[in-house]
Amino acid sequence: MTATLLTGIAELVTNQPGLGDQSPLGLLSDAAVVVQDGRVAWVGPRTAEPDCDDRRDLGGRAVVPGFVDSHSHLVFAGDRSAEFAARMAGKAYDGGGISTTVRATRAAGDGELRRLLAIRIAELRAQGTTTVEVKSGYGLTVEHEARCLRLAREFTDETTFLGAHVLPADFARRREEYVELVAGPMLAACAPYARWVDVFCEPHSDHAFRADEARVVLEAGRASGLGLRVHGNQLGPGPGVQLAVELGAASVDHCTYLSEQDVDALSAARDTTVATLLPGVEFSTRSPYPDGRALLDAGVLVALATDCNPGTSYSTSMPFVLALAVREMHLTPAEALWAATGGGATALRSNDIGHLGVGAQADLTVLDAPSYLHLAYRPGVPIARALDL
Ligand SMILES: [Zn+2]
Repeated sequence: MTATLLTGIAELVTNQPGLGDQSPLGLLSDAAVVVQDGRVAWVGPRTAEPDCDDRRDLGGRAVVPGFVDSHSHLVFAGDRSAEFAARMAGKAYDGGGISTTVRATRAAGDGELRRLLAIRIAELRAQGTTTVEVKSGYGLTVEHEARCLRLAREFTDETTFLGAHVLPADFARRREEYVELVAGPMLAACAPYARWVDVFCEPHSDHAFRADEARVVLEAGRASGLGLRVHGNQLGPGPGVQLAVELGAASVDHCTYLSEQDVDALSAARDTTVATLLPGVEFSTRSPYPDGRALLDAGVLVALATDCNPGTSYSTSMPFVLALAVREMHLTPAEALWAATGGGATALRSNDIGHLGVGAQADLTVLDAPSYLHLAYRPGVPIARALDL
């Protein structure tokens, strides 16, 4: 395969301090990149660019690593716009609306779910996302959870088994039985299609799972070779963060209500467990945002993701999330961009995405702007897109 020289890059974000400047973003002005065989082969100033048969001039745009959306629920049918409207009119959210989506998802054929997945992934890419994690969790039977993951696998390697998303209504008085099903036959059917296992650990919702139940599912997932992720501390203070840190989960997601002990635990575990913030949820549920500033100041490793789902955050847009992080959680534009790229890659324990060092996957996102600062500065304007090579 021939090498392609990308030139006309007004500002390159490498996320490799020293490759550009010494900041965490490793910024390089007036840069060039050589891509070969789907990998970054060379990065440097335009004045030192090597000869290549194939050249593309990006016309003075900024280039950033493709966004890594490390938390989404893209396999679903139907929508819940009426629930959104009701919530905006003052009705509280307690996680119960998930059953509406479960019904619609079970009723949809494989072809329909595949079509919907393809549309959503095209949306992500059109807004600069090059890696997406996709969870199950709207099947909630052995057959339907395995089907959702099999379909998700057609689009991404980053698939997560979330049978413990919500307690199905028919198990309302048989919680223990459902947890046994998830940790037993459902996990066995899903593990071949999954890299990760996740639980909605939330004692504030009757529909979600307590710490002891979450532990059973996570430990069974680990025994099956899956990495661990946790939905925790979304609706109120809870045990999710401590459980995630104790079990060495790759990430604990939401982190909206944290105690001082939770922040300390995440700070001490920064080499293992990432705090993934999902401010699209707080936006769409009109809830208080997590204190992203306090987490960064405490030395916690922070990622940003969309949590794209039909109930509480029906957005595929990482630039939107990034703008919320800057405006509402007081991250600097640089911190937000790193969290949406390097942070997401760390949350997925991947070394070759989330940066543009030599050897990285050639996942480049181009901005119709001279600087990455425009991502948060121009909210709602479609300036970011994944570069097709
Ligand atoms: Zn989620």
